[in-house]
Formats: sequence, structure tokens, C-alpha cells
Amino acid sequence: MRSDSMIIENLLKIIVSQQQEIDRLNTVIAKDIQTGLYNRGYCMQLEDNFFINSSVLMFDIDNFKNINDTYGHHFGDKMLLMVASILSKNSRNSDIPIRYGGEEFVLILNGCSLENAYNVAEKIRKEIERSYLTFNGNKVSITVSIGISLKKSDDSLWQSIEEADKALYESKATGKNKVTIYQKDKIKRMT
Ligand code: GH3
Ligand code: MG
Ligand code: MG
Repeated sequence: MRSDSMIIENLLKIIVSQQQEIDRLNTVIAKDIQTGLYNRGYCMQLEDNFFINSSVLMFDIDNFKNINDTYGHHFGDKMLLMVASILSKNSRNSDIPIRYGGEEFVLILNGCSLENAYNVAEKIRKEIERSYLTFNGNKVSITVSIGISLKKSDDSLWQSIEEADKALYESKATGKNKVTIYQKDKIKRMT
């Protein structure tokens, strides 16, 4: 009897430790190694119905190729980390900051209206604009262009990301370093 209960106890310990390892690996594969933000793979498996009346912000660093060409790829990587840390700092626990591609980021603001999302986007845009890293004693800063869409209950997350991307394109096309809100049939530029 005693040995039976010891076997069960040991089996339970193994199951718990394996579950802990599965949880750890799930966290590892959900994250972008370079920035520590969530990665695109994680974004693609998010449930559509988890985010209702949420806002989707899409960011793209302006003229980032110039940063790499002028200061080197390693310095560019440090800039990416700077942007990632500003996005994290401005996210609540229920929000999802994602490194979507090379120098593109998505921030899902859970349960957030367009108006509040615009305020968050402007706050982040300004914070990035005034932040800098030093290179040979010189301050180097970057800017970002941002597009925003609202994910309503029957929209897919994918569709909302595409709409945010269209608004981002408008920010780029009209001078960069600005925030544009997507509206059906009409793009609304706020800055
Ligand atoms: P735009 O304002 O139109 O967005 O111009 P851009 O120069 O930012 O856009 P472009 O797409 O021409 O260049 C993006 C650059 O981002 C090119 C690529 O080398 C760089 N990039 C992508 N991923 C990384 C990365 O992980 N590290 C570094 N240092 N650079 C990266
Ligand atoms: Mg880009
Ligand atoms: Mg860019």
C-alpha cells in the first residue's frame, strides 16, 4: 500500500513538472527573441472573439533603413529594443504588444475605444520622437508612423490588422511621424 501511494505521488510530481515545462515552452515560442514582445505566430493564433470593441494599432519605424545604413545593424537592433520597451511600458496587462515583422509592431488595446486608442498612439508617438540613443556622443532619434482600426464584435482580428495597416500606409504617404485612424470608405488623419 505504502509503495502504491509513493508511486502515485511520484507520477503526480512528474505530471506537474511536465506541465510546467509545457507552459514554459509555450511562453518561449510566443515571444520574439530579439525584443521580448509577442511574435507574429502568437498573434495569428489569437481567438477573434477574445477582443471585442478593441483597438488595433500598427506601427512602422520611419526611414529605418537609413538608421542601419548610417549607424550599423547592431545600433538598429538597439533602436528596435528601445521602441519595444516604450510599447511595453504603455501597455496594460490585458493589452498585447507584438513584434509583427522587422521594424513593424502591432499593439492590441483590449476593450479600448478609438478615441482612447488615438490618445495612447499619440502618447507613444511623442515618446518615441523625444527618445534617443547615443552614437559616438551624438543623440540619434527615430519616429514612427501609426495606423489605428477598431475591432468590432463581428470583425476578425486579421481584418482589423489589415485596416490598421491601410491607415498606417496613409500616415506614411502623407509625411510620416503621424497617427491615422481607419474608417470604412474614409481614412481619417488626426495629426
Ligand atoms: P519607411 O519610412 O517607408 O518605413 O522606410 P524604411 O526605411 O523604414 O522601410 P524599409 O522597408 O525600406 O526598410 C526597413 C528596414 O528595416 C530594412 C531592414 O534591414 C530593417 N530591419 C528589419 N528587421 C531588422 C532587424 O531585426 N534589425 C535591424 N537592425 N534592422 C532591421
Ligand atoms: Mg516596414
Ligand atoms: Mg519603416
